[in-house]
Amino acid sequence: MHVVDQVDSLRAQLTSLRRGSQRIALVPTMGNLHGGHHSLIALARQQADFIVASVFVNPTQFGPNEDFARYPRTPDADAAGLEAAGCDLMFLPPVEAMYPFGTAHSVDIHVPVVSEPLEGALRPGHFNGVASVVARLFNLVQPDVAIFGRKDYQQLLVIRRMVADLGFPIEIIGAPIIREADGLAKSSRNQYLSDEERARSVQIHQTLLEMQRAHVANTPLAGIESAALSHLRNNGFVPDYATIRHATDLSTVSDGATTPLVALIAARLGSTRLIDNLEFEQGI
Ligand code: AMP
Repeated sequence: MHVVDQVDSLRAQLTSLRRGSQRIALVPTMGNLHGGHHSLIALARQQADFIVASVFVNPTQFGPNEDFARYPRTPDADAAGLEAAGCDLMFLPPVEAMYPFGTAHSVDIHVPVVSEPLEGALRPGHFNGVASVVARLFNLVQPDVAIFGRKDYQQLLVIRRMVADLGFPIEIIGAPIIREADGLAKSSRNQYLSDEERARSVQIHQTLLEMQRAHVANTPLAGIESAALSHLRNNGFVPDYATIRHATDLSTVSDGATTPLVALIAARLGSTRLIDNLEFEQGI
C-alpha cells in the first residue's frame, strides 16, 4: 500500500491508473480505524480495482466545543489496518493540503433540507464542513465510486444530495452498520467510554430495536418516541433525540405512514456523544 500526504503525489499515483481505465474507489475516514471502517474497504474491493482511503480529521466539521483536539489520531495503526484490509493507497493530508487558503477562507458548501434537522440542528455548521471536505476529496481523487457508512445516516443523505445536485459523476454506496457483539455500533468514540458506560451503551441499540417493535405493533409515534427518550434517561443517557423519520429525507412522520422509515438516536453518556440508527426498510 502506498501512503501519500501531498496532493501532487496523490495525483501522480492516480493519473496512470485512470489512463488504464482502472475503476477507483474512495473511502473517506477520520482515522482511528476499526472494523466498521475496514468493512468499507472490503465493500470497495467488490466495486473497484484500486482503493484510496483518506485519513483526515477535518477541522471544519467540528464545532468550537467539540472534540477536534482530542480526536484520536493513530496513523501508524491506521496504515497497518488499511493494508491488511486490502487498501491500495492511504491519503493522509495535512490541513494545508485540504484547505490551501486556510479553513477561515475556504469555500463552504451548504446542502439544504437534509442537512438541517437532527445533527444539523444540534451541530451548526457540521454538515457544511462534511460536504466541503468530501467535495474536495472527490475533486482530488476523482473516484468512480465512494463508500460511506450507514452508521452516519444523515451524512450519507447529505452526500447523496450534494452529488445529485452538483453533478459529481460518482456512484455513492451506503455500507451496513458494523456492530460489536452486544449491538453497540462500532465507533472511534467508543473508546472514551468507561467500563460502566460501555456496559450501558448497549441500550442505544436496544432502544432502536424497541422502537421498531413498537412501530410494527402500530403504537402511535409520539408514544414510541417518548418511551424511547424515557428509557434512555432511565439508563443514564442525556438524549438529544430518539425519533422515527422518513428514510429518504428525514422529514417528520405521521402515524400510518407507509414509506421507508428510519429510527435515529443521538445521546450523551458521560462526556461521550453516541449516534446510531435502524432502518425499518431501506429507503436510500
Ligand atoms: P469516520 O472516521 O467516523 O468519519 O467514519 C468514516 C466512515 O466510516 C463513515 O462513512 C462512517 O459512516 C463509516 N463508519 C464508521 N463507523 C462505522 C460502522 N460501525 N459501520 C459502518 N460504517 C462505519
